[in-house]
Amino acid sequence: MSQALSTDVLIVGGGIAGLWLNARLRQQGFATVLVERGSLGGGQSLKSQGIIHGGAKYALHGALTGASEAIADMPRRWREALAGNGELDLSGVRILSDAHYLWSPGTLAGNLTSFFASKAVRGRVDQVKGEQLPPALQHPKFKGKVYRLAELVLDVPSLIARLAELAGDSLLAAERIEPLQENDELCGLIVDGREIRAQRVVFSAGAGNADLLAALGVEQPAQQLRPLHMVLAKGPALKPLYAHCLGGGPKPRVTVTTHPAADGQWVWYLGGDLAEADGVARDEAAQIEAAKKEMASLLPWVDQSQTRWATLRVDRAEPAQSGLVRPDNAFLAEQQRLLVGWPTKLALAPDFADRVLATLQRDKVQPAGHAPLPELPRPALGQPVWEALLP
Ligand code: FAD
Repeated sequence: MSQALSTDVLIVGGGIAGLWLNARLRQQGFATVLVERGSLGGGQSLKSQGIIHGGAKYALHGALTGASEAIADMPRRWREALAGNGELDLSGVRILSDAHYLWSPGTLAGNLTSFFASKAVRGRVDQVKGEQLPPALQHPKFKGKVYRLAELVLDVPSLIARLAELAGDSLLAAERIEPLQENDELCGLIVDGREIRAQRVVFSAGAGNADLLAALGVEQPAQQLRPLHMVLAKGPALKPLYAHCLGGGPKPRVTVTTHPAADGQWVWYLGGDLAEADGVARDEAAQIEAAKKEMASLLPWVDQSQTRWATLRVDRAEPAQSGLVRPDNAFLAEQQRLLVGWPTKLALAPDFADRVLATLQRDKVQPAGHAPLPELPRPALGQPVWEALLP
């Protein structure tokens, strides 16, 4: 059996939630170990579109809830971190776009009226025209209205790489996790046969949380999976576009982000309504056809003759909600020394870490002296999905 270890906080799951939390804890002097069974970011995080939402999209539903007010502070916190003067030093992480756009292809859609009346967007949305338009929309044939939202879009691979750097020697590649108990209480985990004692254990394993809880015989919190069928397009004629394109309904008809491929071409990553229920029901070929048709009708001037297409099925993991309603703040549940949660959005990773830190503070958990960690097998960084699907 490998050498037993002890630490302050033992984290399971190296997506954005676990990595952000790990970096914040280490910065505050806590000893940590973060266990990842796959690759860092390789769950949902590297499959996300990288939009740091400020809640504007949710205001499309009409009335703004208190919870969506919480998300309104996220762009500021991320901007400070990216500038190197926030809660973490994320300077060097690539910002793909300083703004995300709201794009109404026809006349002003009815749902925009309540949108502009809502608090989340007041004073933060400006209409843009001409040269200020996103490059893909700068064409004489373009009609419609475009509004700039104060929401960033990040290059998630560079974000995960930076957080892995901030993790120092705390990362551990391992697969098998069993509870470590003392007097009927969880006091750590047995990780690939190695005992790791900790003051607190955090499960931030995304879709893996359900199995981890089941292995501990814990039933709550319940998890829900929301399937998506995303589309990727790569071609020499594509130009950057970061926008929610509005249709008639409360959800964006398509959400487009654009990512740099290693060979210098741009990749469009398409989500929104296109990737939800009807899109999930379509097979890959039908989903690609639907996406081609959608993009040809929205951007008919883009020559798609050399564009290559692929799709990606991925589940969003969240706490169970009635009617699969999207939660809009981070979620954390506690059971004695075990904390478990889902950030529910990449953008809400800071909120997830706040919630864990608040429980440590409340319970007066302090950094305790621990022996330095031996050299541990380190999990690899996950790869961008577009490199795997459209090399
Ligand atoms: P994950 O990134 O899934 O990480 C969990 C990690 O735990 C994985 O690396 C996994 O390998 C590991 N793990 C699982 N089980 C175990 C185990 N037993 N032992 C060890 N390790 C384990 N959010 C936004 O804010 N903006 C967006 O634009 C956006 N776009 C999205 C687009 C898509 C298509 C999807 C699917 C999601 C999007 N999201 C977005 C949501 C966002 O990606 C997720 O909320 C966030 O990445 C979840 O992070 P996480 O760390 O909880 O989970």
